[in-house]
Amino acid sequence: MNVLVLNCGSSSIKYQLLEMGENPEVRAKGLVERIGLKMGCLAHKNNRNDRYETETEVTNHTVGIKLVLAALTNKDYGVIESLDEIKAVGHRVAHGGEYFTESVLINDDVIDKIKDCCDLAPLHNPAHLLGMYAMQEVLPSVPQVAVFDTSFHQSMPASSYMYPLPYSLYEQYKIRRYGFHGTSHRFVAEKACDILGWDIKDKKIITCHLGNGASITAIKYGDSVDTSMGFTPVEGVMMGTRTGDLDLGALLFIMEKEKMSVSDANSFINKKCGTAGVSEISSDMRDLELADANGDERAKLTLDMYAHRVKKYIGSYAAVMNGVDLIIMTGGIGENSCDTRKRVLSDMNYLGVEFDAVKNTDLRGQDDTISTSDSKVKVMTITTDEELVIALDTVKLVFG
Ligand code: AMP
Repeated sequence: MNVLVLNCGSSSIKYQLLEMGENPEVRAKGLVERIGLKMGCLAHKNNRNDRYETETEVTNHTVGIKLVLAALTNKDYGVIESLDEIKAVGHRVAHGGEYFTESVLINDDVIDKIKDCCDLAPLHNPAHLLGMYAMQEVLPSVPQVAVFDTSFHQSMPASSYMYPLPYSLYEQYKIRRYGFHGTSHRFVAEKACDILGWDIKDKKIITCHLGNGASITAIKYGDSVDTSMGFTPVEGVMMGTRTGDLDLGALLFIMEKEKMSVSDANSFINKKCGTAGVSEISSDMRDLELADANGDERAKLTLDMYAHRVKKYIGSYAAVMNGVDLIIMTGGIGENSCDTRKRVLSDMNYLGVEFDAVKNTDLRGQDDTISTSDSKVKVMTITTDEELVIALDTVKLVFG
């Protein structure tokens, strides 16, 4: 059975068609970009490695979706003969506010609630809605499912999700911590427990999703009880271009000195800071590791800061849960950067972590253990797959 997974941005549509079954397989994937601009484009690739690229005007999301469907059914580079073979559509949705604690089948009520959360994710939610409307127009009888980045973290207690702000601001604007990357945190924790033969309901787990965006979650007995991203995905650990945690006073000071507007400041904390800002070299961990190996002092400082901040979150989440059984490293950096894992996980024996530096070396893109056999706390690298989670949730909701 084929499931189409969509991640619609304001001017783009990222898609994957997955054949679901015992061993789900990506049959085709691609990206439509520059929707609404003068000239848009589509880049498509199938599982036979055929590629197709085209430049054409993509006036809106409906036109973009039609382009995707035409590519999927094309007799040369497509993978299905007819649109009837698409049995369900899963949408990634950035923000479900306090409405959604799990993935849901899309209906009018769900659409109204996603609309209601547009204020909280003004760049993302309106774009997801455009994708849903377009799908409803083009394939009206195909069931659609919404999978939220935030829903896994709705189990956080108020003591984790409230900010020390006047309570009325929470009541009026719903300002609180929501957390993101929920699909990834949930997926890697469940996958690791499957591999280990553990019941997630008995375990305390810290998941470190370290990619260009990064967040860390404390999962106690299967529920997210704290996570490092907050009201927006800027809070938490240091990221590729986002600050992570920062003294608010420092931001106000910078805004005043540099005469920044609110919109300038927003772009600054999201795009100009993090590892790119400190190093003034790159936001890409590979570039920083190379520069460090060549003796660049600033690259070294950046990598040390990065590891320090991740380490602090791991320690604090172990404190929050009164212990930890398993630490998981995932995301582009967590899965592939042996150097970052070593910096973060060495010298954690106070917590019962005995890091296996030999096993860690050259371990990339695999599900494996990187703690020694006598380590009290297990440490694993687990590969994440957010599209697969969306497809699995979609199948579960549509077909039971
Ligand atoms: P993501 O956003 O999950 O795709 O992760 C992107 C980040 O993963 C970038 O900072 C990359 O530099 C980093 N990354 C990917 N592969 C490697 C690698 N082999 N070694 C170090 N970092 C890597």
